[in-house]
Amino acid sequence: MKNKICLLGLRGSIPVSGDEFREFGCATSCMVVYAEPENGEPEPEHAIVIDAGTGLLNLRKNMPGSIKKVTVLLSHIHLDHIQGLLMLPEMFNGRLEMDIYCGKHCGGSFEPYLRDMMKPPIWPITPDFFAKSVHFLDLPEGDFMAGDVLISSMPGSHPDDIDIFRLTFKNGTTLVHVGDYEVGQSEEIDEKLKSFARDTSLLLMDGMYTMDEYSSQRGFGHSPWEMTAELANKVGVQRLRIIHHSPTHSDEMLREAEEYVKSKYPNAGMGREGEILEL
Ligand SMILES: [Zn+2]
Ligand SMILES: [Zn+2]
Repeated sequence: MKNKICLLGLRGSIPVSGDEFREFGCATSCMVVYAEPENGEPEPEHAIVIDAGTGLLNLRKNMPGSIKKVTVLLSHIHLDHIQGLLMLPEMFNGRLEMDIYCGKHCGGSFEPYLRDMMKPPIWPITPDFFAKSVHFLDLPEGDFMAGDVLISSMPGSHPDDIDIFRLTFKNGTTLVHVGDYEVGQSEEIDEKLKSFARDTSLLLMDGMYTMDEYSSQRGFGHSPWEMTAELANKVGVQRLRIIHHSPTHSDEMLREAEEYVKSKYPNAGMGREGEILEL
């Protein structure tokens, strides 16, 4: 098997439901990465999950039975990126070793924020119910290894802080994940992102709005898909999947947007829930 990335949730802000969302999906931000096993092992033992929106619930039907450990990288802790943690059975049953990494957003670690949210009367189950095999960890400042994959990060441009991740696989291919990001808010951060994502094999990046929508949503922390595709093209990204689809965008609208973006940048496309990409 090759390195595999499975898109489990692409919707931004809030999950949706209805026939008009069947193709691109309803669940919020989540994806899982399986690195090619070493030493001729047929199945991977380690999974890397990026963001834990409601798409995290799709992990159960996607994950090989060989997985023993999951490293979760949270880009930030807005609700659409963490809500899946509240309902994933593996958070409670102890069947998997789970290391959940999150940067110090707004100056603090993730777990106390989670404790503030997971308590009655907001939510009946507190983090004390989580299995002992679940560990909350601060994202290291420098690079670190998750299984055989090198994880690097940099801060992005989004309200309440966000981390951008780059995964480097043993075969030299790379994946860059830019969860929520507004292009053009900080020239300095944009320039850093361009270096960080230059020539990457696969870029997954926020492109939530049309240009029309963006004119009234400037400063909300998300990019129009045209600007995302343009940035990706400028830095020589080999493949782009636009993510964090607006809850107001139907399949028809996203298909039209994809057609347009592909006509300018053939390697770009809109991410679909259930899509599997190989690196
Ligand atoms: Zn979001
Ligand atoms: Zn956000």
